[in-house]
Amino acid sequence: MSIIRFRCISLAAATILAILGAAPGAHAESSGFVTGTEKIGEGVYVFRYGIHRSLFVVSEEGVIVTDPLNAAAAKIYRQEIAKITAAPVTHVIYSHSHWDRVAGGQVFKDEGARFIMQEACAANLLEVNARTPLAVPDIVPPDETFSARLSLTSGDQGIELFDFGPSHDKCHAVMYLPALNALFIPELISTLGASLPVEDITLGTYELSNIVAYFKSVESLAEEQGVTTLIIGHARELLVNGELRLEPATGPVVLLKEQREFWEFSLGYMGELVGKGAQSMFLARIIRYEKFENYVGYDKEAVFMMFRRMITWFATG
Ligand SMILES: [Zn+2]
Repeated sequence: MSIIRFRCISLAAATILAILGAAPGAHAESSGFVTGTEKIGEGVYVFRYGIHRSLFVVSEEGVIVTDPLNAAAAKIYRQEIAKITAAPVTHVIYSHSHWDRVAGGQVFKDEGARFIMQEACAANLLEVNARTPLAVPDIVPPDETFSARLSLTSGDQGIELFDFGPSHDKCHAVMYLPALNALFIPELISTLGASLPVEDITLGTYELSNIVAYFKSVESLAEEQGVTTLIIGHARELLVNGELRLEPATGPVVLLKEQREFWEFSLGYMGELVGKGAQSMFLARIIRYEKFENYVGYDKEAVFMMFRRMITWFATG
């Protein structure tokens, strides 16, 4: 778990003020290990388990659940759903293949839910589970996979799934909620503004070769559909006026553009460093850290680690 130093800054500051001060229903929650459910629209809810959030939609006919997280979380997740509806969970959507999101879904399988996953995510899940001794055993395998797009409906509720290629690891299903004009994007964005990678400052799960194209595709989808709101799944802890807070679950759609510009700026700066003959051993001395002070999660070490990885990625292809 990481603690992000919070700085008031340009675009991010405007976003933060909008979220903390003006946006109805959106606020930074007290930090600490908390579980519970937040209603963010008619029939649309976010289940919180510590720093993780998972979206679910409820209709009279059934419930569509996203990432079960883990067995302990999923048990509470199911209890939270039961407080809202007696309808069965009909589908579980995995956003991507990382174990912190996809374990523990058996409680939903037991009631007959179908598990859906993007095909590259499913392949990644199988491949990683096969080669690592750290494999997590309690992952329910997907019943159905999709490639570029899939629409799911349950009564008057619907979720459309999109894949825009490698981004957060090999895949990352973007979920569009037409009724709410919202996108659920569990990772890769912060609701507080363009941010440095958090929890993964070495960029181990980032696919840099496609990250800008990915954001452009999501922005195009958002524009076509008139999306106004983004929902995140992996919250960050922040120090706000000396207090630990958890970033809000929702933020404005402009965050997509801000985050894409962060990657364009960072990759452009990497090109500048490489052009000057930068090698990883001298990076610490030549990076102009102040260029990144205005981004959420700024930390000198994080900037160094990010460029250390970027230069290696550039050198090795
Ligand atoms: Zn992940």
